[in-house]
Parts: sequence; structure tokens; C-alpha cells
Amino acid sequence: MNWESYSHQKIKEVVSNALKQNLDYREKPVLGLPASYLDPEVFYDDAPFLKDAPFLSTLIANPNHIGCHTLNESEAAFIGTHQIEKELIELCAKEIFEGGDEDFDGYVASGGTEANIQAIWILKRYFEIEFNAKADEIGVLYSEDAHYSMPKACRLLSLSNFVTKVDEETRKVTQESLEDCVAQARRAGVKHLISIMNMSTTMFGSVDDIDEITGWLDELKVSYKVHVDAAYGGFIYPFSTEDRSYTFQNPKINSFTLDGHKMLQSPYGTGIYLTRKGFMEYALTEEANYVKGKDYTLVGSRSGANAIAVWMIMRTYGSAGWKAKIQKLQKKTDRLCSNLDERGVSYFRNPDVNIVTIKSEFISQKLAEKYMLVPDAHGDHVKWWKIVVMDHVQQGLLDRFLMDLDSELLALR
Ligand SMILES: *Cc1c(COP(=O)(O)O)cnc(C)c1O
Repeated sequence: MNWESYSHQKIKEVVSNALKQNLDYREKPVLGLPASYLDPEVFYDDAPFLKDAPFLSTLIANPNHIGCHTLNESEAAFIGTHQIEKELIELCAKEIFEGGDEDFDGYVASGGTEANIQAIWILKRYFEIEFNAKADEIGVLYSEDAHYSMPKACRLLSLSNFVTKVDEETRKVTQESLEDCVAQARRAGVKHLISIMNMSTTMFGSVDDIDEITGWLDELKVSYKVHVDAAYGGFIYPFSTEDRSYTFQNPKINSFTLDGHKMLQSPYGTGIYLTRKGFMEYALTEEANYVKGKDYTLVGSRSGANAIAVWMIMRTYGSAGWKAKIQKLQKKTDRLCSNLDERGVSYFRNPDVNIVTIKSEFISQKLAEKYMLVPDAHGDHVKWWKIVVMDHVQQGLLDRFLMDLDSELLALR
């Protein structure tokens, strides 16, 4: 993993050159596009700070990134910023996920939800086209700790879902429940499975043991394809672990979802879908005639400024800078865990992720509300409360939480 950090000056130059290559509605005779720059009464483009603010300048120029820019020719009007999105996809696939000399496709989606739906849609089409499968012969396999975008995708795409159980303490998928799911799928006439692996769940930060699970599926002679949901963990886990099984070097993995708007602190609207070459085509909408290069994405029109924002963050830090930032968050999380250990408080934590999920018997509703901890389920059946050690979680805040926890624990005893 190695990508260069750029100075603010260099970032400004790259973005400003990209915007110059894009169509300028003020200078070109544009009659055919139902698009323009942002309303100039409200968002004026001569504000003096704009020349130092590449993201805001891009927002105002308002390039449309409709379609997929890693594939073929796309709308020439916004070629400059499309190139930056292309570089962003390549950075993620090759540097974060060790894609080597292979080429990849992908795009900046509205979020992790859309990227997951895109992934499941593409793999559904793959089984339909390559294996002549019908929708009811294709199922989606994921764990009970997976994100709710999986059942959402299944309902949208009329696919049946098979949900594996996890061990209450380790949050690991159990072999027994996986075998049950496969047997159940077979009884229902399902011939192909889209297997979702969590490269960190949202609630626990747990990472599915991909080698073990694909091993079980292979033993059972299942026909399957793997999509990795790295919406939460994609900008953390690869930077904190020695585990190399969640990279494109693992031939079992077909695609990844990433979310810029979680750990990376980019604006909302920055999910990322990444896939090996040869799969994006399954999402082709032939009828997208007015889009040059057609459309291969779920969403349609989308803001180019989102891609610029993610690219700027990755380029400002560089791989070494980002790794250092993640290490700092991990250290803070380690310290919180040893503080909890000293107090005999039970929790789940994946040592490579910055989430600590505490058993509810140690936390009162009042304490949870005061510190806005998130429960595993809203209502009366809370079993876990989680803390996410984000950038804004200062040591002082953790110390205050621990002091309040101490008074509660004292009262309990
Ligand atoms: C947040 C999250 C998603 C969905 O992301 P949105 O950006 O909210 O659509 C999907 N999967 C996981 C694991 C997540 O943490």
C-alpha cells in the first residue's frame, strides 16, 4: 500500500486543471444539456475564497458524473473530473485492496447501501446470464450481524435471503448455521448463492473469517460469488491488520463496498463500489441512449464534487498519513479497552477495529443516553451498547465517560 501525499498547492492545481478540461457553461454554446452550474444568485462563483477551495469550486461548477468512468468513453463535457474519479477508483482497488496489475471498474455511489445493492444486482445478472438461472434460483447469504442494506437489496431484487447465526460472544458465523442455510437454500431450489462477507460489521466491528466460510462453501460444493461489505471497515481494517485475505489477491473476492462518509469524513454521498473487470457490464442499461457511454450504475446523475472530496482526502494524507491516523485511533481504542478490563466490564472488540461494544448489564439507559451510545436494537431488548472511537472522540471525553461509569458501578456494588 503506497500512494503519495500531495501538498494543498498540488491538489488545487490538479482540481483546477480538471475543471478547466470540463465544459464551462459560460464559454461554450451549450444548448442540449438539461444541466448548468449552481444557481448563481445563491451560489456565486466569484467569492474570493473559492480559488483556495477546490471542493467548493467543484460543487459550484456542478459536474455530472453520471455513468461509469472506468469502463469506456463517457460524457466529454466533464472529462476532467471524470479522470479524477477514475484515479480514485484505481487508488482504492490497487492500493487499499492490493489489486496488483489487474484493472478494475467502479464508481462513487450515493452510499454503502447503493454500492451493496449494485453488487447484488450485478451478481444476480451474472447468474441469470451465465447460468441461465431464474431469480428464484439465486439467493443471498449473509450473517445476522450484516447491514440492513442486504435484506433491502433482497426485497428490491426479489431474491431470497439466508441468514447465518453468529456466536453471541465471538460474533463468528457458526459452521452449523451456514450448513443449515445451504441445506435450506437447496430445499428451496436455490442453485447459486451471493455470499456477503462483512469486513467489519457496523455494530461490533467484527470481520467474517472469509477463508473459513469460503472453505465451508467449497466443501459443500456450492456455486457462489463473494461480495465484501467494507462500508464501515474499508478505510480502517486494511490499515491496521496483517490479515491479507481481504484483498483482490484473494481470488474468491469479486467486489467491495467502501464508504468515504464514515471513517474518511467525506461528505454524504460517497459510497464506493469496486469490482473486478468483466462484471460492471452486467448492470448495463442499454436503453440509456442519451448518456454517452451508456449507464452501468444504479443511480443516474450524481455530483462530481463527491468524487473530488474523497480523492482530496486520500491525496492529502497519502497512505502513510492515513495509516498513522488509523493507528492513533486504534491506540485510543486500546486504552479504552484496558480501562474497561480494569473495571471488569465485558465488551466485544476486534483488535483491528475502533469499535467497542459493551454488554448492556454494565451500562444504564441514562449513561447510554448521556453519551449517545448506540444500542444493537431500539426498545426493551438492548443487549449491547457501542462506542465508536472517531476522530472527535477526545481522551477527555472518554475519561468523563469512565468516571460516570465508575459511579454507576460503585452504586451497583
Ligand atoms: C453504513 C454501512 C452501510 C450502509 O451505508 P450507507 O452509506 O448508510 O448507505 C452498509 N454496510 C455497512 C457495514 C455499514 O456500516
